[in-house]
Amino acid sequence: MSQLLYKSTRNDKNLVTASQAILQGLAEDGGLYVPVKQPAITLDFDVLQHATYQEVAYEILAAYYTDFTEEELKACITNAYNEKFETPLIAPLKTVGSDSYLELFHGPTIAFKDLALSILPHLMTTAAKKNAVENELVILTATSGDTGKAAMEGFADVPRTKIIVFYPKDGVSKIQERQMRTQRGDNTYVVAVEGNFDDAQSKVKELFNDQQLRKELLSQNKQFSSANSINIGRLIPQVVYYVYTYAQLVKQDEIKNGESINVTVPTGNFGNILAAHYAKAIGVPINKLICASNTNNVLTDFFATGTYDRNRPFFVTSSPSMDILISSNLERLLFEIGGDNVQTIQQLMAALSDQGKYDILPEMREKLGEFYADFASFEQTNDTIAQEFDRHGYVLDPHTAVAKAVSDRYKEETGDQTKMVIVSTASPYKFPQVVAHALDDTATAESEFDWITLVFEQTNLSVPKAVSDLYRLPIRHEREVAIQSMRDCVKEILVID
Ligand SMILES: *Cc1c(COP(=O)(O)O)cnc(C)c1O
Repeated sequence: MSQLLYKSTRNDKNLVTASQAILQGLAEDGGLYVPVKQPAITLDFDVLQHATYQEVAYEILAAYYTDFTEEELKACITNAYNEKFETPLIAPLKTVGSDSYLELFHGPTIAFKDLALSILPHLMTTAAKKNAVENELVILTATSGDTGKAAMEGFADVPRTKIIVFYPKDGVSKIQERQMRTQRGDNTYVVAVEGNFDDAQSKVKELFNDQQLRKELLSQNKQFSSANSINIGRLIPQVVYYVYTYAQLVKQDEIKNGESINVTVPTGNFGNILAAHYAKAIGVPINKLICASNTNNVLTDFFATGTYDRNRPFFVTSSPSMDILISSNLERLLFEIGGDNVQTIQQLMAALSDQGKYDILPEMREKLGEFYADFASFEQTNDTIAQEFDRHGYVLDPHTAVAKAVSDRYKEETGDQTKMVIVSTASPYKFPQVVAHALDDTATAESEFDWITLVFEQTNLSVPKAVSDLYRLPIRHEREVAIQSMRDCVKEILVID
């Protein structure tokens, strides 16, 4: 079988294998790695409907990560998708009314990032071995709340790795903060940053490209890598659940094999919905990809106008994992619709960093027809949580509620009756205060733990172990820094002077 190589969106001479792309995370030229073409793979859903999640994962990963052996990939998959998940289905599909929810919150941190981040450390350490990398890997990550915890769970005590997570001090939920600050593992470091997610993410990108810092690390036999959703080692494992879901829909007789579906994705960094786009490209019959945002609706405007403009107020919303104004993974889509032209990407990204905005060419816009985008306000999100519970007894977390609200608006506007899959990205217990208020606006509680109890009383939904454990664990991390001190903080943690 021929090798599938990866190239940078900002320099097409920069060609690497899958394992090299996974090790590097972000390309040295600042670009993102993309496969030079989508792999040719035959998806036979008559067969796949009987496959386990792990079996589907193998088919997809083998098609994209061609320099890994079968044995290596199967070991990664077995280490990732096991009893850490509360259901052997890993990503179960629940049909509620006429919609099907793809539940991606049954992993150790009860949010969808577990699906990719439980496998990434194994892919990365395997990739290091394959490339004879002796250096210790230092994972540097900015998080809007969920990535950081899920990455630390994945990397905790993995030999020859360290992980440093930066989160916006006032931009994550109490539960998310507690999850991070109680993180186990001798190689995990958590830092609260005085700034928002975009500030933290931009700084992390800058540190990656800081040649002086790289040199200093190297002199200590260390090198950076990234667990952010820009790493191709996260993107491809996310393609798996779209394939698996389609197979489950066929199996459950919700659709006929070959019938199209639509998918609504609550979107922040554009990783999850891009994975759906890849799934479509390799043959999953997806018609519309519906991009749902909260009031940080920069993507809604982008799809409506072709102008991406981050010069706007930043809102801290009830769906904080989507509080993002720079959706990094969009660069991969721009590269594709721009005909793999690195100059175009260089220009657009330079404009984004200089003026905070860019316009795409009309011929690029024409290629966005499979996308529909809209956003939901705070009130709409709450109403949706209340309504879905009243009608069907199904409890939505605020991110999933944003998706449901946008999905309903899409159907109303277009009359499209195509089977809808709504991607459910977090457990309601990750955001209990929002959920409790949405269900009863007079609700009050003393502590985060009381909010959890309240949601249980309101809904009778069982509390996941990840949440019940949280209040027994000691706080282990207390670091706080300003944005401009992040570099020094990294050096202090790694003991570089
Ligand atoms: C990260 C996250 C999102 C956004 O996903 P992207 O891949 O960044 O678009 C949505 N919901 C939840 C709960 C998340 O943690």
